[in-house]
Amino acid sequence: MNRCNTPVKAVGGKGINAGRTAAILGSEVTAIGVLAGMNGQLIRSALEKEPFSTSFISIDGESRNAVTIMDQAKNQTEIVELGPKITAATAQKVLDSIITHVLKQDTTPIIALCGSANTQNDALYEYYLQQLHQSLHSQIKILADISGKQLQHVLTSSIKPYFIKPNIHEFSDLLATTVTNKNEIIPLLNHPLLEGISFILVSCGKEGAVAKFCGRMFNISIPSIDSINPTGSGDATVGGVAFALEQELPIEEVLKYGMACGMSNALETAVGYVSKQRVEQLKEEISVTEI
Ligand code: ADP
Repeated sequence: MNRCNTPVKAVGGKGINAGRTAAILGSEVTAIGVLAGMNGQLIRSALEKEPFSTSFISIDGESRNAVTIMDQAKNQTEIVELGPKITAATAQKVLDSIITHVLKQDTTPIIALCGSANTQNDALYEYYLQQLHQSLHSQIKILADISGKQLQHVLTSSIKPYFIKPNIHEFSDLLATTVTNKNEIIPLLNHPLLEGISFILVSCGKEGAVAKFCGRMFNISIPSIDSINPTGSGDATVGGVAFALEQELPIEEVLKYGMACGMSNALETAVGYVSKQRVEQLKEEISVTEI
């Protein structure tokens, strides 16, 4: 029997967390995806209070629960259910919805493809990338916060995402190696598998991150903080990067926004949430060094 006296319940997922972060910072955001079953209904009503618009398709099954257990030593254990099945027809509807939304905008928005999908099709995101490139402006910036087989497929595709953000573990898996620190990551950013991706950010939790942007390498050092709940920090990082890219800020600023958002999220009990004021303060304490 394990008891939890301080449960925190939140509606989230990579896309929602990243979208919320970008919206808090000032971006106009639309979250697009699928909802299913009773959890789906709960999520739909909770999303009404969010600072972004939504366009969710109802499908069969049940939107998943994810349980994060934080012990006193601040170790995290995650129990993540398998989400509802994403059929080819559903995947196409979501894609069509993204394209319709983008075509309605006066300016070219940034698209972030976030999270995993319960699908037999390991090349789902590769298909999305190809279709989005074909249907929209070919210079559109597509951020991909995906992992596992879906990311592997995307990396071998002829159409590459503009940005990826594996964390250190996902990066190790991707290159079938074991890296334990930033110094080991840096040379691997030149790995042939990563060729053609303009912007690679490998996030390393409290150690900050390393990045490759248009052939330039960066080390991003962050101050030590008294983290409360880092669940969703990577998602917040993606939201911060999306906001800063949309503002067309210099790369150093983009990296600072990404890190400050991850840190601000870690300083909140809530998951996938940042404070704009805190982000601006934290940014001042982050150092970006070109290697
Ligand atoms: P993910 O959530 O995808 O595993 P990370 O854990 O690497 O990603 O977190 C993303 C970013 O959030 C980090 O690069 C860092 O800026 C910030 N962050 C995460 N955890 C902490 C922490 N414990 N202390 C300070 N910053 C953190």
